[in-house]
Amino acid sequence: LIRMLAGRIARPDCARGFILDGFPRTVPQAVALDGMLAGKDMRLHAVIELRVDDAALIERIAGRYTCANCGEGYNDVLHPPKVAGTCDRCGGTSFTRRADDTRETVAARLVAYHQQTAPILPHYAAQGRLHAVDGMAEPDAVTGELVALLDPLAPPDSA
Ligand code: ZN
Repeated sequence: LIRMLAGRIARPDCARGFILDGFPRTVPQAVALDGMLAGKDMRLHAVIELRVDDAALIERIAGRYTCANCGEGYNDVLHPPKVAGTCDRCGGTSFTRRADDTRETVAARLVAYHQQTAPILPHYAAQGRLHAVDGMAEPDAVTGELVALLDPLAPPDSA
């Protein structure tokens, strides 16, 4: 995985930087990533932890479904269609759910996160690179915080 990543970030579209989403997931992966980047005279400039409440996350993920016709996204609790069973956008009446978006699978993924992934947070905090963002805030507020964190890290436009 690290070797594949090393090849990917060597491509021209990564010359001005890159964002890893959901990686590393374990401390050994984080250590291997640090080592690989150091070998290229590179380092991560920031690590962002999106903080969310487990129970709320289960509600969000287990409740989500999409219109089978147009792909519009809904949620049982947070964002149901205005008319039950009918898509707001296209009037479709057929919906799909991802098989792994159940309470049980989300809970299992959270257990794996807390056991295997959360320990990378102190690893990066010790390097002074960890930033926490409140993932429970409104989407626009989360986006604003992410942009405020990442914008200063981007190299100036060279075009
Ligand atoms: Zn639809």
